[in-house]
Formats: sequence, structure tokens, C-alpha cells
Amino acid sequence: MPKIHFTSAPSNLALHTGDNAESVARNRFALTEELNLDNLQFMSQSHSDQVRVVDEFSSVDLPSDALITQRPGLGLAVLVADCIPLLLSSTTCVAAVHVGRIGMTNGIVDKTIDIMEGLGATGIIAWIGPAICGNCYEVSQEMYEEVTTFFPASATTVQQHSLDLPRGTIALLRERGVDTHALGLCTLENSQFFSYRRDKTIGRQAGVISL
Ligand SMILES: [Zn+2]
Repeated sequence: MPKIHFTSAPSNLALHTGDNAESVARNRFALTEELNLDNLQFMSQSHSDQVRVVDEFSSVDLPSDALITQRPGLGLAVLVADCIPLLLSSTTCVAAVHVGRIGMTNGIVDKTIDIMEGLGATGIIAWIGPAICGNCYEVSQEMYEEVTTFFPASATTVQQHSLDLPRGTIALLRERGVDTHALGLCTLENSQFFSYRRDKTIGRQAGVISL
């Protein structure tokens, strides 16, 4: 069975936000040990639609916003501090996906599922970890209209113009026939999680999955 794990603050796992590299390396090592993984692969994320299939561990964070592996013991990590850490499991491969407002609109979720299915995945199950909720993610009126036109499930109210990205993502997954478990924990409202919007933090927690 694939293994799923979500971390929380104060352990920062991101190298790209200006934290001390040695302390991040220690946190990554501790997490790899705790989860009993051979290795834990991180990404250099940029809200792109780049999906990578990895079979070998790279000590360099790989430029992409989704990772897929078929290799048991190789953990995949997605870093977040309000965006959605989306984990996809199947018996043949697993994936970790970075889903923010841009990722939702650039189709990275569909693209990742397409590639998993190409690798023989059936009965994919999704987990949505701690992420900013529909009450807290207010955006400009223009942005609200842009996103909700294409993803009506992410709508709240026109007055509030905040986006419910977890609900929008669940709807996308349902269209693909993927059952989703959502933790329903808001990063902004729960201080045990890093929240960029709340604190402009350099900290990032992770969603981790492995076969
Ligand atoms: Zn919230």
C-alpha cells in the first residue's frame, strides 16, 4: 500500500526560500528516516505544468510541479505554505503535485493523471493535505472571475471573491473518476502549519507519498 504523510511547522523543508541550507538538510534527513524511505525527492517548484517521472533519486531539487514514481522506497515531496499538497496513489505508481491557483488553471492535475494512467495506474485515490480554505483565500474581483469561469466549483460568493481551491480540485478529480480524501485543514487558520498569506513565512511543509 502507498504511504501518505503530511508534515507541519516548525520543520522547514524548503531550500529556495532563504533559510539556512544545513538546517533544511537536517529536517529533510530526519523526515526521510522517520518515514523509513530510501530517499526523498524534492522539487524546485514554479507553478509550472511540468510533470516528471523519476526512477532515480537526485540530490538536486528537480524543476517541476509534479513528480511521479514507480520505484518503491523513493518518497516524493511537494512543498507548500497555503497551496494544496495533492498526493495521488495507485498500485503501480504514485505522484506528488503542487496545486495553487495557477496550477489549477494550467492543467497540471489532469496532466499528472494522464501520465499515471499511461504507466498503467488504475483506481487512483487522491489526498488533499492542509491548504488555505475558501473563506481565507480572497483574491481580486478580476482574478476571482477568471478562475471561477473555468472552475465553477472553486467559487464562493461574488461579494467575498475568495477562491475555494480545495473544492475546485476535488471537482476536477471527480471528473477524472478519482476518489478524494480531503483533510479539510486550513493553513491560515491553524498555526501548526506554515501559511505564506498569514506570515509571509519562509517555512514550507510537505506532502509526502511513496510506494
Ligand atoms: Zn481558512
